[in-house]
Amino acid sequence: MKPLTMLHSGEMEVVTSSAQIFSRVFRQLRPRTPLPRIDVEFRTYANANAKVKLDQGLLEVRLADTLAGAPEPVMEALAEILLCKLLRRPVPESSNARYRRFLNQRDVRRNLDLVRQIRGRKRVEPARGNHYDLDEMFEDLNFRYFFGLMAKPVLGWSPNASRTLLGHYDPPHNAIVLSRILDRAEVPRLAVEYVLFHEMLHLRHPAEHRGARRCVHTPAFKEAEKQFGELREAKSLLRLL
Ligand SMILES: [Zn+2]
Repeated sequence: MKPLTMLHSGEMEVVTSSAQIFSRVFRQLRPRTPLPRIDVEFRTYANANAKVKLDQGLLEVRLADTLAGAPEPVMEALAEILLCKLLRRPVPESSNARYRRFLNQRDVRRNLDLVRQIRGRKRVEPARGNHYDLDEMFEDLNFRYFFGLMAKPVLGWSPNASRTLLGHYDPPHNAIVLSRILDRAEVPRLAVEYVLFHEMLHLRHPAEHRGARRCVHTPAFKEAEKQFGELREAKSLLRLL
């Protein structure tokens, strides 16, 4: 059987809050101490990544908002580092290493993004494809589902015809890119419209950070997606691609 087609990668449905992670780690380090109340907040920090403070049964955790999308194992490593320091325990070397590796990778990725933006080499081909015109489809969907109020992002086709990544919305470039595989006569218009509509909803409903995880399909997103006329039919058409 063909694997289920994804509209884009990196979708996370399971949400473990960072407060849960911190309380789990605290319990491991201090099994007999009553668990403090835990308050995790993400803030904009220019030069710090994380701070903790334990005061009158309240553990205050303040994290840089750039950590909000960190994967759970990384958040757990960070919790171990911070809580070990707080409780004056030796920090496990594995946690240190894992957290440092994450920061390094993140910085490398960020630099690559920056370089790509500077060179302006976002690889997108014009909205008017061989078979479908994304500008025209956008206007039509905008009128039908968004009262014509959505500002038009950059629209384009990917140079490669991916079957696994049918579309994505790229916030830094404010661009919606659809896979070239959809720009063919044998692909029903409904299927292309659905992928474009889905990506337009990403523009309207940004991803939410909940603790350590990024939730791309929020409840509001899913509610809005149900407005699409022939949702089930469109989804089954995509499975036949
Ligand atoms: Zn999506």
